[in-house]
Order: sequence, then structure tokens, then C-alpha cells
Amino acid sequence: MASVRNNSLLAITNYNQRNIEPPKRANGKPLYTSEYFGQNVFTLKEMERTLPKSIFQKFIQQQKGRVSLDRATADAIAHAARVWAMDKGATHFTHWFQPQTDSTAEKHDAFLSLKTSITNGHETITAIDTFSGSQLLQAEPDASSFPNGGMRTTFEARGYTVWDTTSPMFIQEGPHSTAVLYIPCVFISYNGEALDEKTALLRSNEAISHAAVRLLHLIGNTDTKRVITTLGVEQEFFLVDRGLCTLRPDLKICGRTLVGSVPPKHQQLEDHYFGKMPSRVLATISETEIELFKLGVPMKTRHNEVAPGQFEMAPIFEESSLAVDHNLLTMEVLHRVAHRHKLKVLYHEKPFKGVNGSGKHCNWSLSTDTGENILDPSVKPETNPRFLLFFIATIYAVYRHGALLRAAIATSSNEHRLGANEAPPGIISVFLGDQLNEVLNAVEEQREIKNFSQHQIQSVKVGGTILDLKIATLPPISRDLTDRNRTSPFAFTGNKFEFRAVGSKQSPSFPVTLLNVAVCAALNEISNELEKIKGEKTFASLEDVLTVVRIFIKKSKAIRFEGDNYSQEWVEEAARRGIPNITSCPEAFKMLLDPVHQKILTETVPIFTIPEVQSRYHILNEKYVKDLLIEGNTLKGLISQYIIPSAFEYRREIAESLVSLNSIGIDISASPEKAVLVKIGDLTNKITQLKGELEKAIAEVSSTQDIVLAAEKAHHEILKVMDDIRTNVDVLEQIVADKYWSLPKYSELLF
Ligand code: ADP
Ligand code: MG
Repeated sequence: MASVRNNSLLAITNYNQRNIEPPKRANGKPLYTSEYFGQNVFTLKEMERTLPKSIFQKFIQQQKGRVSLDRATADAIAHAARVWAMDKGATHFTHWFQPQTDSTAEKHDAFLSLKTSITNGHETITAIDTFSGSQLLQAEPDASSFPNGGMRTTFEARGYTVWDTTSPMFIQEGPHSTAVLYIPCVFISYNGEALDEKTALLRSNEAISHAAVRLLHLIGNTDTKRVITTLGVEQEFFLVDRGLCTLRPDLKICGRTLVGSVPPKHQQLEDHYFGKMPSRVLATISETEIELFKLGVPMKTRHNEVAPGQFEMAPIFEESSLAVDHNLLTMEVLHRVAHRHKLKVLYHEKPFKGVNGSGKHCNWSLSTDTGENILDPSVKPETNPRFLLFFIATIYAVYRHGALLRAAIATSSNEHRLGANEAPPGIISVFLGDQLNEVLNAVEEQREIKNFSQHQIQSVKVGGTILDLKIATLPPISRDLTDRNRTSPFAFTGNKFEFRAVGSKQSPSFPVTLLNVAVCAALNEISNELEKIKGEKTFASLEDVLTVVRIFIKKSKAIRFEGDNYSQEWVEEAARRGIPNITSCPEAFKMLLDPVHQKILTETVPIFTIPEVQSRYHILNEKYVKDLLIEGNTLKGLISQYIIPSAFEYRREIAESLVSLNSIGIDISASPEKAVLVKIGDLTNKITQLKGELEKAIAEVSSTQDIVLAAEKAHHEILKVMDDIRTNVDVLEQIVADKYWSLPKYSELLF
């Protein structure tokens, strides 16, 4: 049995690295990245080149929300897009959208159509290539099979995908030089309700832009007409050998190991973080980047993460809805490319017990229409009204609606990370770093800012400070405005906030949407206050701003935490401060229905209708229950088809050996063989009994009609037994002779 495992291990040793081919010039030299970046995107530049001027102008007006697209314009754009795509080998097009499944959906249609004409009484059929404006603008996928949370009954299960003109079309190359034209879309119901992730994100971006512009105008910043949210997504993941992965049903089906004992050496030595990447991994990531560059995804950094086998890729930030599209593309492309290198990418937040989990750090900020970063503190943050207002608005937003942000990141897989003895905890707090804390404290206490030099560096100039390394041969380097606190779920990092608690597997869309909404509500509240204080003046003065900022610094103080977020002291301290500590998904989902949070989602910043919120609540619970049932059933299968048989085979060998020892007159009553035999007996008994309990829990959850109740039961009953089973199996794994253990072990998967 275990020989299959050995063969897979041998295959790794004999693996021949796959050659990757960066795009080349005619003379064989490599193209520079900037030369092929975005070559598979139907960019504005490409549109301008291929469309009549008047059509292009109309499109630009539409993109700015000024006019809607008329039929003739849409037809012209569709034609140009088809010719551009077909010249690049495309045969099909697809509407590409983001149902509430954390992934994307697509259905391909060929450009090919048949035209029937009658000449001289004869019917002739001609093949033609077509792509009309209406095909570009809208499609009606069979929507009944996407999660809708009971919002539509099947007889009216109409859902429409509609082109999101803010995100450019692109082509993805398939195998054997075929390609497909992708049209980024939103997915809405017949009545215009959001069935997807993107609609809500776009609505929240609209809302925050209005709120931000209002506040900017109050302080005399009247040039800004639009504010966008920017997002840079750091994606963490594990790469494991695909051959070994196929031998682990838990990894294949659930994306995480349900059993497996932690090897003696893993991340304690911290030798993996920023270490050299294994060449097979580097090849995978490089090939992924090449594909992503063609798709216009600006990938910037790549490095090893803390755990063995764990890596990270991050792009240059972009406007947030495009950044979300690009993060989802990154995940898809990496998955596909890893396959070619016989690797499997694991996006699960906690694929291995006892080993660091993966997150998706969502770096978020606001930018004016002229590209100025509003959260850039500049040289003197204390006298920068714009920075102070937006900075405190974000902090206050987290203070008011941290529990809502917690709901946004609640998934069955992220639950193993949040609040489960690992970072970040289920308590959402904000980290600012010494300097900005001091700025806020000084503003609050109406005093001068203290100098930091005594415990840090000699000269503190806020913004790009000079750090003296006391090594003469190195040039002076500038120091970030904030120090790092890797334990914080929400940290200010220099000129942006970093929402670090987001799950590696989930789409960044919902977390960013809810963050936008929370900040939008805070901006409105701050504007109201500032309007009052400013009185009859045209614009608020710096004094007015400081007064308002002071009010919100005081209100939101409890959410600021600079210490170790993983410590027990913080759990106690947070409780004293009244900051919620939400450790389970069902509890987190409920926050969506909490009147305070629901009000901002449906009234203050109406991005959802009440039925839309309820539908999401339903979908989240339903998904959670399904995930846990799948895990429970997978573990059941693992026990009876893998774990117990391995133990029995070993037991038989020992039993036979005992019989032969006995037959030659050796006293076996106190033999080590017998002790092992007894231990195996105990463990297999215990595991079998627990499996019975698991089956009962599964049956119980499956038969519970009320989905909210089912989710709670799943959390309390299924997870608990699964944990107990794992503890016993992991002991068993260390007893059973290696040659009988059929599941690849952690040491093999991770190194
Ligand atoms: P670190 O690991 O130190 O947090 P990385 O370079 O890995 O830093 O990631 C930082 C991410 O933050 C990048 O994706 C970067 O583009 C993004 N980022 C930088 N500035 C902004 C901004 N103003 N708005 C949104 N994201 C930003
Ligand atoms: Mg980061």
C-alpha cells in the first residue's frame, strides 16, 4: 500500500524541470517585461487605435458614468474587440463574473454562427464570425445553479451578466494556441439585485467617492471630483508536489490536511522566510508572472513565507475593483501553471496543523482623481488636515464596525486561523506604530509632538526618515513611518492600511466592500460634525479640523492596540475595552444582521437591500455547513480506507511475529511487540468510536433544516470530533511502521 507513496517520492527525485519560455524578439533575445505587459488586454489605448474617434469618445463618457452605451456604439466596440481577439487566436468569448463562491465563473460561446440565405430558390448556409453589441453587453447564464440565498425562486431564476466597462476585456491563451476573449461582468438578478461580489464592490466605491469628495470640499479641496479606493493584494499560498497531493484525499477534496503529525523540524528555525526559492517553485512563479504580465497584472514581489513550502506574490496596487479582478486571475493562473510543473497550489488558510497559515493582506488606501494618495501622512501629518481626517475616519470605521469586518473574513477555512491560537486573532483592532500614535496623542492632548530620537534614531522627520545604521560603507536608508506588527489584523503601514486578517482563499471583494462601507459611514459622520463646527465659513479651518479629529480620536481610542495580538492578555484587555472577540463563523455571520451594522449597509451607505443582506447571510451559513460536511465525510473515508487499514496491516505483522516468537519458546508477555500491539488496539478502538460520533454529528447536521442552526451544530459538533480524531490519528501515525503508512507525511509534503 505505502509503495504508491514511495513511488511518488521517487518521482520527485527524478523530476525533470519544465522549461519556461519568456516571450522573445525575432532575433531570439528576450522581450523586456514592459514591452509585452498587457499584450493580451484590450486596453483603452488599443480601443483608441481600433475604434472610430466618435465611438471611442462615447465609450469614455460612458466609463465616467455620464452616458449609457447605445446599440451602435456597443456594436462597434464588439466588432473591434472580436477582430483584435481573433487576430490573437481567440475562437470564443465569455462573460466572466464573480458569483458568491470566492471564485469566478465563465461559459464560453464561439464567435462562429451560421447564416442561411436563399439564392435562386436554394438555401445556402455560410459560416461567419459574429459578436454583437448585445452579446458584449449582456448575457443570461443559467443562473439557478449559483448561490442566491433564496433570493430567487427557480421559476424566476433569471440572472444577467452585464459588462463592467471599468475593467478591460482580455484574452486568455489556452493549450494548443487557442484563446478566449474574457469580458469582465457583474451578475445581477432580473430585479437588479446583486448576485455576485462585484456589484456590491462597485456600489461601495461609488459611495465612498461621494463621501470623500464631500469631506474634501469642506476643507477647501474643491478640485477633486472623484476619489478611488486603491488595493494591493499580497497573496500567500503553499506549493506541494502534485503526485503526493493526489495520495491525500483530504488535500485533494478539502484543500487542507485533516490528519498528519507535525515533523520535528518545521518553521522553528525560521530559515525559510525570505530564503532562496526551490528552483521548481521559482520556475512556477516565473511562468505565472509571464502569463500575468501579458494579462496586464502588475506583479511586483515574490518571496518565501514563514512556513516551509509557503510563498507569497504581490502586485503593484491598482484601483480596487481591478485589483480584485487581478487577484482572482492571479489565483487562477498560478493554479494552472503549477499543474504544468507537477505542483499543486494550496490557497487554504491552514493546510497544515502546527505550521503557519496563509493570509491575503489587503493593502488599502484612497486616492484622488489626480493620483494623490490621501493616506500619505506627508512631512507633518499633524498639520495635514486631509490626512488626519481620512486617517481617523478609517480608525473610527474599524472601531464602529470591526465586527462587520470580522464577518467579511469569516469562512470555514479562515476560521482555523482567526482566533484559533494563531494570527491574527478574532479580535479586530488597529495598529498604528509609535510615530502616528504619538501624532494622535499629541492632537488629542493639544500638545507638541515628542521626539523619538532617544529610543530610535537621531533625527525624526516624519515621512522618509533617515536611518543611521552605523556602518560607514552603506548609504543612508530611509525608514518607514511605521514599525511592523505582524500580529495585527489591521495595521497602518506607512501610507496605507493593511487588512491582514483576510483569508488567502477568499475573494478580496467582500472584505474591501465592507471596509469601504464602514469608512464611508465614518466619513459622513465626520463631515456632519465638521459642517457644524465650521459654521458660516466657506471652508473649515485647520483648527476646526483638529477639533473634529480630536472628537473622533477620543471616540475610537479603544480600537487602537500596539501590543502582541496573539497574547492572552490582549484577549482579556479587549474584553475590558468592549472590543468583540469573535471566534466562530456562525457568530461572525450574525454581525450582518446586527441592527447597527445592517443599518450602514442598507441605509447609511445603501449598497445592499435588506433581502440582499439576508441572502448573503443565508449563503454564508449554507457554504459553511457544506464545507464542514465535506470535511467530515472526507475524514470518515480517510479513517476507514487509509488509516485503519494501515494500522491493521502493521498489527498483523506484529501479531505474526509474536506468534513465531512464542512458537520458539520466547516469553512474549512483556515484549515490546506486545506493548505496540496493545497501543495500536487502543488507538484504533478510540478512532473507530470517534468515527461513530462523527457519523452521528454529520447525520444530525445534514438533517437540520434551519441552515443557521445547522451551521451552529456543525461548528460545535463536527469540528470538535474531527479534532479529537486527529489527535489520535497523529499518535497512531508515529507508531505504525512507515512502510505501512499510505498517506504522505508532513515531512514529505513540506520539503
Ligand atoms: P509588505 O510585505 O512589506 O507588506 P509588499 O511589498 O509585499 O509589502 O506589499 C505591499 C503591497 O501594498 C503591494 O501590493 C503594494 O502595491 C501595496 N500598496 C502600496 N501602496 C498602496 C496604496 N497606496 N494603496 C493600496 N495598496 C498599496
Ligand atoms: Mg504586507
